[in-house]
Amino acid sequence: VTDTAYDVVVLGGGSAGCVLAARLSEDPSYRVALVEAGPDHGPLGDGRWPADLLDANFDAIATHDWGYAGGLSSVRAKVLGGCSAHNGCVTIRGAPRDYDEWAEHGGPGWAWSNLRAHVERGEATLRVRASRADDLEPARRALLDAAVELGYPLVDDPDRDTATPAVFLARVNAVGSVRWNASFAYLDPARGRPNLTIVPDTLVARIVIDRGRAVGAELIGPDGVLRIDAGLVVLAAGSYGSPAVLVRSGLGPESVLRRLAIPVVHDRPGVGVGLLDHPYVDLLHRPNARLRVAEAEFLGRPTNTGQALVRVAGSGCDAGAWDILIGGWADPERDPSGRPTGIRAAGLSATLQRPMSTGGVHVVSADPTVLPIVEHGFLSDGAGRDLATQLEAVEMARELAGTRAYGALTEDEIAPGRGLGPEELRTAVSAAVLGTYHPIRTCRMGRPDDPLAVVDGAGRTFGVDDLVVADASIIPAMPRANIHISVIALAEKIASDLVGNAASPTDVAQEAIA
Ligand SMILES: Cc1cc2nc3c(=O)[nH]c(=O)nc-3n(C[C@H](O)[C@H](O)[C@H](O)COP(=O)(O)OP(=O)(O)OC[C@H]3O[C@@H](n4cnc5c(N)ncnc54)[C@H](O)[C@@H]3O)c2cc1C
Repeated sequence: VTDTAYDVVVLGGGSAGCVLAARLSEDPSYRVALVEAGPDHGPLGDGRWPADLLDANFDAIATHDWGYAGGLSSVRAKVLGGCSAHNGCVTIRGAPRDYDEWAEHGGPGWAWSNLRAHVERGEATLRVRASRADDLEPARRALLDAAVELGYPLVDDPDRDTATPAVFLARVNAVGSVRWNASFAYLDPARGRPNLTIVPDTLVARIVIDRGRAVGAELIGPDGVLRIDAGLVVLAAGSYGSPAVLVRSGLGPESVLRRLAIPVVHDRPGVGVGLLDHPYVDLLHRPNARLRVAEAEFLGRPTNTGQALVRVAGSGCDAGAWDILIGGWADPERDPSGRPTGIRAAGLSATLQRPMSTGGVHVVSADPTVLPIVEHGFLSDGAGRDLATQLEAVEMARELAGTRAYGALTEDEIAPGRGLGPEELRTAVSAAVLGTYHPIRTCRMGRPDDPLAVVDGAGRTFGVDDLVVADASIIPAMPRANIHISVIALAEKIASDLVGNAASPTDVAQEAIA
């Protein structure tokens, strides 16, 4: 049953999906639909957004979660805005060399010299601003003071001044303390357009492929199954959702498709393979009375969210760069409504920025309501390089925790725990490792001769026409930074390439509908 036809359907209304839907619908001649499994809480001005999704001071992971197995590392937001609606709002860029590495896979358009304009456009649209030391939540301020005490330079602009080690006030996409998610930034100005239709609370079951061409999607909405037709399908369901949708549509490793009795449209062994995330281990301390009082005072006043980070180079890092970021954070106690009321622990998260260990997204059923299994594989590389760097990172965090500034606010180390021997520490670190919620590469872009590439440098899938993937899943190499602005820039670039391509997508849609 064909319910509706559009020029473009964007599947997944997260960070990237909001960018794509907004930019493509700027051209009134494109009829654009944006499909999202989670709810649409409307424009910010309507006042319907839940408080936890608005408060940029703390990640909002207690609600709107997809519920992937694998615990904390697999958290994903199911809501219009996607993970931008519950994330930490840290907005930092990778090193230019990271994006130049994307160009090796996807072509020169991804090199920093070209991508930069898209990053800057994304930063302006997300209303990214500087953090101020005086606004930092006390556990974050403690990290800043500790780094300064160790003699690390306090760098004003971490993108220009690449001194390492260094501490810097990270820029944030928060207006006051409101998390400025991609729905506010991109969709609110676009909601009035007659050529944009937002379809919330609707699960993408699969992409409909006819003779090697994507022609629409099969959806499960509040009223049952429906089909949407489109001249171009843009998949933006994220690093876990996008490979799952592709496999359900017959595009994936042939062995998996056969096992699940899904008709093989195109054998693509790289779908779901090679997952990367930034692993981290927390150094946790009990807060003392002074920190508890400072937190209570912070929670009791209006704030202007800010973030501070330390960057350092481990012994295996490439020259002139960094491969570890250390963040400070507080583990909040909450009242029954989810409002933070105090803190349980102060943490220093020691995060690897250039991990080698990979995992995968394993689709276990053709049923779209069954979630795939996410296997992270943290610290599992055969050479043991990630584990060695992770141990170094924990020691660096301990140096910070050993300062007078940090010690003035904390009591004993809760985890991994003092007094562990080297072997016990390795075991404790291996057991405690988690992901920073930055999964990439499960539908990676690459050259046509790369057997594990899923899309080309324009995001077009190999093997199926009129199907573009445009989200974190296509990123081929890990930026040494929290990845949100990189994802936004990626979506900005793909959108501008699509709009600039005169042959797509309206002509194709007319043809398909005829
Ligand atoms: C808790 C948390 C904190 C983070 N903090 C930061 C930070 O401080 N700074 C930073 O730079 N990055 C941060 N990140 C990472 C960043 O937010 C993500 O990398 C980015 O949002 C990913 O964008 P995306 O569009 O690829 O995926 P998503 O934003 O996840 O979007 C995918 C969308 O598709 C929808 N979807 C999936 N499957 C289907 C389906 N079958 N049918 C319909 N819809 C579907 C989802 O509901 C979702 O809305 C954080 C992430 C998390 C989870």
